[in-house]
Amino acid sequence: MGHAGRESGAAQPRIRRQRHGQRDDRGERRPRGRRELLHGRDRDRAQHRERRLHPEAAQHALRDPRRSDLPRARGAADARARRRARGRRHEPSARDRPLSGPQRHREEGAAHRQLIRYRAAWVLPIAAPPIAGGAVVVDRGRIVSIEERPASGEDLGSVAILPGLVNAHVHLELSWMRGRVPPCDAMCVWAQSLMALRRTVTEEPREPIAAAIAEARASGTCLVGDITNTLSAYDALADTEMSAMIFREMLGFSAPDPGGFVDRTLAQLAELTPIARLRTSLAPHAPYSVSPALFSAIADRAEHAPVSVHLGESPEEIQFLRDGTGPWRSVLEHLGVWNPAWTPPACGPVEYLARVGLLNERLVAVHGVQLTGDELARLSSARATVVTCPRSNRWTGAGDPPIDRFYASGVRVAIGTDSLASVEDLNMFHEMAEVRRLAPSVRARAILRSATQSGAEALGFAGDLGTIEPGRRAELLAVRVPDGVTDVEEYLLGGIEPLDVQWLDPA
Ligand SMILES: [Zn+2]
Repeated sequence: MGHAGRESGAAQPRIRRQRHGQRDDRGERRPRGRRELLHGRDRDRAQHRERRLHPEAAQHALRDPRRSDLPRARGAADARARRRARGRRHEPSARDRPLSGPQRHREEGAAHRQLIRYRAAWVLPIAAPPIAGGAVVVDRGRIVSIEERPASGEDLGSVAILPGLVNAHVHLELSWMRGRVPPCDAMCVWAQSLMALRRTVTEEPREPIAAAIAEARASGTCLVGDITNTLSAYDALADTEMSAMIFREMLGFSAPDPGGFVDRTLAQLAELTPIARLRTSLAPHAPYSVSPALFSAIADRAEHAPVSVHLGESPEEIQFLRDGTGPWRSVLEHLGVWNPAWTPPACGPVEYLARVGLLNERLVAVHGVQLTGDELARLSSARATVVTCPRSNRWTGAGDPPIDRFYASGVRVAIGTDSLASVEDLNMFHEMAEVRRLAPSVRARAILRSATQSGAEALGFAGDLGTIEPGRRAELLAVRVPDGVTDVEEYLLGGIEPLDVQWLDPA
């Protein structure tokens, strides 16, 4: 690999490795041949899928040493050392700080020394069709341009460059529950076993959160929409390069002072150490757990930020809104929070959100398994977003989401994994593979856009992330693509493992 793309300056590696997979169990780096590296990739797709479904495959990939045919690169340990050198734990990194006057002047003065041109077998801008043999030009962490026929540059070989993926729905603080809440046929039963498990701890264990973020990074995620009740993932997010829209979740079916509740919650968010790549907003949990007054108070106060709601997830939610009966009613009564003054709205979940003032372009409606064609059309007209989490839906017993109808309706579709309490891993490539399996007729390009651009738009990061376009942050992936692949978009939906994912270093 050459360095021809760098205009000048000392040569240094620009492919970052993640902490997982760098070393084997003895902490030693082992060389890995190209033939081994591509295992599974040169087989036919059916075999590849079969391998992916093997329960040990993902863990094996995470432990596997990285290939040796790319230069040694900066890893998480180096990033931690840099943060220590900065002193205060949450002092913003250079990427997060707004440029001051003198600093900006200095960096602009040095611009000519920092252009990097990455050439690859494929470039996927997402906002435009894939480019074979293209290049991405990067300057100080920002994308400058895309070139269709670059004459020079740092040739990355048989990889596809694409923007970092966006996991639009996750609950990082539940990561310690991985494998501990069994799959279920009825979502309310699954939710009750989750609540019972959660009551066994006084606070969310921190180490699994950090491990989950590292796992998400290693499989190509640069931005998460993270739902939280405790803010316990904030420090862990601050310690990484992951961007996040942090949705402080609110529950209250009989909360006495909804306005005060929202004000206190917003004040709590305002006390967090400001970091530009970590933004905050609110998430009313779901129609069966949030009173109409609390929904309205959130709608009144969260004026400019996305608002995330679990919506149309289970058949029991539809029943509850229709006539106030069913398992969710029983759960509320069991918890002692049923409000006898509540009147069933006798409508669907989208109409219900419209009545409380939340049906707008900032709505991030998560799951949507039960939504009708009319409801999807209404979300589309409002320019809202549906986030689909199909692996979680199966795990919790909510059923398979109507993904074909999501896309046919024209609504913005984003993709999330949901929490490790209801999914095997946080690999967005695996989630895309499940979307593809459930919706074989949806265009591959549309699914890739959902996992990048649409997620960034829904979470309010479209100016920075989600596409390869001039001005966007250069959080770029290089994904190994075997020679001979002609449909790179479809290939990327086949279930990519972390072994074949690397981050390009924009520094
Ligand atoms: Zn959720």
